Amino acid sequence: MKPYAYVRARSVEEAAAAHAARPGARYLAGGTNLVDLMKHGVETPDTLVDVSRLPLDTVEELPDGSLRVGATVRNSDLAAHPLVHDRHPVLSQALLAGASGQLRNIATTGGNLLQRTRCPYFQDTAKPCNKREPGSGCGARDGVHRDHAVLGHSRHCIATHPSDMAVALAALDATVELHGPDGARTVPVTGFHRLPGDHPERDTVIRPGELITAVVVPHATAGLPSAYRKARDRASYAFALASVAAVLDVADDGTVRRVGLAFGGLAHRPWRAALAEAALLGTAPTERAIAHAVDAELGAAQPLRDNAFKVPLARNLACRVLSELAARP
Ligand SMILES: Cc1cc2nc3c(=O)[nH]c(=O)nc-3n(C[C@H](O)[C@H](O)[C@H](O)COP(=O)(O)OP(=O)(O)OC[C@H]3O[C@@H](n4cnc5c(N)ncnc54)[C@H](O)[C@@H]3O)c2cc1C
Ligand code: SF4
Repeated sequence: MKPYAYVRARSVEEAAAAHAARPGARYLAGGTNLVDLMKHGVETPDTLVDVSRLPLDTVEELPDGSLRVGATVRNSDLAAHPLVHDRHPVLSQALLAGASGQLRNIATTGGNLLQRTRCPYFQDTAKPCNKREPGSGCGARDGVHRDHAVLGHSRHCIATHPSDMAVALAALDATVELHGPDGARTVPVTGFHRLPGDHPERDTVIRPGELITAVVVPHATAGLPSAYRKARDRASYAFALASVAAVLDVADDGTVRRVGLAFGGLAHRPWRAALAEAALLGTAPTERAIAHAVDAELGAAQPLRDNAFKVPLARNLACRVLSELAARP
């Protein structure tokens, strides 16, 4: 591993200043992804600015009932938090579907959002990868790509985003709070991760030096029926082949009043299913209507040689989860 300097930040401002002072710096939170990538030579920071002990480790209820989750809240703590567990079960379930207990005890909210793809070519510096080394090619396109994207990929990159938590946050209309050299700003989770396009080296819209300070889960979805379902090669300790996060509110007249649907494991970002949602809003969520809506979304899929199975897998997951939510009293 390349030698690096280490700085422990005591405040958001100190972290941002330390990062700005060192062009090759990276923020370090739980380190469960970054340190792995450093060991593989994929990440070679000059300096680690440790943000894991910043006072951003609480879940706070805002006056309007929204939940503000600090960036250093650990995944285990967030999943177990009573307000999250009771009001937004989809988020607890997504967190608990990720990694292992030990990892979740260390992994943070900010680090989880910014974890890098698990594409094996990205993690192997001997292989071509446009994300790791722009212009070197995409090893996965004609190589091993069973786990890769079926939606929104480009000729430059077919990677998927690995986070389970981010899929739930997308369905919940959560926002990301950032602090950077130009001040603070807020970005919706649905707009935070990018599609690869011509620049797969950029996973998100985060700007140089910006620090995630919090994620806000709005009150509008609190208490609504919601669920997360994940299909993977092993029952635990495996990334999603496909996953679904759904929030469904059915009005007294039996029609859909609100729906949030997002897919994981299918694209370079959590895939908010806008077409499916539009098809469901105002209709009775019968099995037929749900299947029609999900098909409208997945009609845009462009599977690769070895991953066409993901389309019916995602379809079945989404239909099952939405039907179960619709059947709740
Ligand atoms: C074996 C294994 C299995 C796993 N399985 C799953 C799974 O099934 N599902 C899943 O979702 N995840 C899984 N993970 C990934 C795990 O969830 C992530 O590694 C973890 O969430 C990253 O959080 P961290 O705090 O350790 O981030 P770090 O590794 O510290 O950082 C990750 C990135 O985020 C940046 N960063 C961290 N915090 C901030 C901040 N506040 N502001 C700006 N930048 C920041 C860092 O600079 C770095 O680039 C798995 C990991 C392993 C090792
Ligand atoms: S899919 Fe993306 S991350 Fe994987 S090799 Fe191709 S460019 Fe790299």
